[in-house]
Amino acid sequence: MIVSRNPYNGEEVASIKEFTKKDIDEALDVADKRFQSWKQTSFSERSKLMMAAAAELKKNKQEYAETITLEMGKPITQAIAEVEKCAWVCEYYAENAERHLSKETIKTDARKSYTSFEPIGIVLAVMPWNYPFWQVFRFAAPALMAGNIGVLKHASNVMQSGENIQKIFERAGFPKGCFQNLPIGSNKVEDIIRDKRVKAVTLTGSKPAGSSVASVAGEEIKKSVLELGGSNALVVFKDADIKKTVATCVQARYQNTGQSCIAGKRLLLQDSIAEEFLELFSKQVRELKSGDPMDEKTYIGVLAREDLAEDLEKQVSESVKQGAKIHLGGVRNGTYYEPTILTGVTKEMTVFKEETFGPVISVTIFKDEKKAVELVNSSDFGLGVSVFTEDLEFAEKICPQFDDGAVFINELVKSDPRLPFGGTKISGYGRELSIHGIREFVNKKTVYIK
Ligand code: NAP
Repeated sequence: MIVSRNPYNGEEVASIKEFTKKDIDEALDVADKRFQSWKQTSFSERSKLMMAAAAELKKNKQEYAETITLEMGKPITQAIAEVEKCAWVCEYYAENAERHLSKETIKTDARKSYTSFEPIGIVLAVMPWNYPFWQVFRFAAPALMAGNIGVLKHASNVMQSGENIQKIFERAGFPKGCFQNLPIGSNKVEDIIRDKRVKAVTLTGSKPAGSSVASVAGEEIKKSVLELGGSNALVVFKDADIKKTVATCVQARYQNTGQSCIAGKRLLLQDSIAEEFLELFSKQVRELKSGDPMDEKTYIGVLAREDLAEDLEKQVSESVKQGAKIHLGGVRNGTYYEPTILTGVTKEMTVFKEETFGPVISVTIFKDEKKAVELVNSSDFGLGVSVFTEDLEFAEKICPQFDDGAVFINELVKSDPRLPFGGTKISGYGRELSIHGIREFVNKKTVYIK
């Protein structure tokens, strides 16, 4: 049995029978057979179904959001927003997939030559618990619209959400086998990647998991996309609009109780505005309401599991030993971790070097642009960076200096169906969303007619 428990009170939420080897084999058989007919369907048929999935998400958003909140402790209002965003990505690909994948003519000496974008078959998605719906839908919507088949290995603590996602596609009318949730532990992933019927794998999660999945995919010469951790910097220059920037930075770090790959985990402040900024920032963080994740007024819920809260506590205490100061918070109570601000953080300290997956921000002060860029790039991660300044010319000039997969000016780093999303360095490779996401799992076929 795979059991999910409410991290707020420890109560069991769901208990799902784990698939045996035989169950997995049957599911892959269903998926493989389905591919033969699904790949022949037209974009308009797929679009109709994808729009129905969006409608189903909107209609029953409360029900789906409640399961998310119960399984991983995200505040209910944020869970509802997550479900709504999934409807958006379904609509986006329903409307744009055909355009993204239409043939591209290339002028050569041939009578006709072009690239066509064709589905490859079953893609395995290994997904994390932090956005139990969004991570899956941003893979599933383009995959299905491209004519591929999805099989999901969801994180063990949000398995009911995985089941719900399969139900959504079924309720929308997708033929059986287009999308299946496989209730399995991570020890079954290797065999699935090696299975001949499975053509590619995408993983969103931690570096160890990504590394392990990519090694197996590499041995089998199968395509992989990795969306891994991040330690985004929020860089505030002295000419930034302080009031607006504070509000954006609070949201960037503390939404989803800090459990987001693209959260702004390292706050870099230019020396002349650091004190003023920190005062206002601390005031707003102090006002964030913690409480029962099911309460609509709650902004800070609990962490998804107690071991994760313990890991965070260890990172903070190590950093304090290394010389960081607790400016605010720093106390854990079971799965709850107080919104925390650490000051005096240097790039040698644990909270700067590692990803902190909870409501903890590290503050480092810099003197000039050169130092700011050096601090941002000194991280092993490369998911995204936010830069705050009123000088937009300077902002655009500084963009190419960052190693990251995304630079957002005067905004928090966020995923948007219209924009490519993905990292560099140990944050992974490949892109999701936009035209780039849907083209990851297709055969870019060259056709040459003499
Ligand atoms: P995780 O422990 O790596 O788990 C992610 C998924 O991988 C789960 O389904 C897990 O299954 C599975 N898994 C774990 N070890 C595996 C292995 N050796 N082989 C195959 N599968 C394995 O990560 P998490 O704790 O759920 O999520 C947090 C991490 O995800 C953070 O680092 C966060 O930054 C990252 N993340 C990245 C993005 C992005 O877009 N870049 C988005 C969200 C989250 P079990 O649950 O059964 O162990």
